[in-house]
Amino acid sequence: MTDRVIPLPLHHDGIALLLKATAFAAEKHRSQRRKDSAASPYINHPIALADLLANAGGVADVDVLCAALLHDTIEDTDTTPQELRNEFGARIEMIVAEVTDDKALPKDVRKQLQVERAPYASPEAKLVKLADKICNLRDMVEAPPHGWSGQRKREYFEWAARVVDGLRGAHPYLEQVFDEQYSRGLLEIG
Ligand code: NDP
Ligand code: ZN
Repeated sequence: MTDRVIPLPLHHDGIALLLKATAFAAEKHRSQRRKDSAASPYINHPIALADLLANAGGVADVDVLCAALLHDTIEDTDTTPQELRNEFGARIEMIVAEVTDDKALPKDVRKQLQVERAPYASPEAKLVKLADKICNLRDMVEAPPHGWSGQRKREYFEWAARVVDGLRGAHPYLEQVFDEQYSRGLLEIG
């Protein structure tokens, strides 16, 4: 009898699923840029969330890491929830859906809803939200949106802190990272 390699189904392999989510998000965000003056590739941002969760936060739940990689696909690209469900399963789709704003609503309403709904999000969605706010505060200091005044950055910091206050308990260490980023960032913005 000859030796045969029987491949595992890809979904049973966390590394393969992470790479699939990375490639999917890169393709979906391929023509988008961040708002910094260098117009960095958008995909750097979802990768930064997954990196932070895994390597600073010690999060080992592959579905949460995939949801971090995919967190802006429904909101900012033509990706549908059904597409995520087909490609990545219902759990990842639900986490991404939870962190997706309804763009049909005015911006101030969307911002207010994030504050009000944060306490009721699932533990998985809270982790993705927390990582999103940490990464965005870091970007606000190191590579801020082009043309933003100090006042506008400070308003963003205050709003992000209100959202994070609603999800405290999700990951105390990363909340501490947020708090440090918040205090240091405000000093640097001046
Ligand atoms: P936006 O939601 O338009 O912009 C911030 C979002 O942009 C982030 O949440 C992030 O979202 C994304 N983003 C892209 N590139 C970057 C980057 N380099 N750094 C950080 N984030 C980036 O913010 P608002 O227009 O709502 O402004 C924030 C605050 O400023 C509000 O509270 C608003 O009231 C106030 N404001 C003040 C004005 C002023 O002139 N004083 C004018 C208008 C608003 P994601 O993670 O989804 O990519
Ligand atoms: Zn984001």
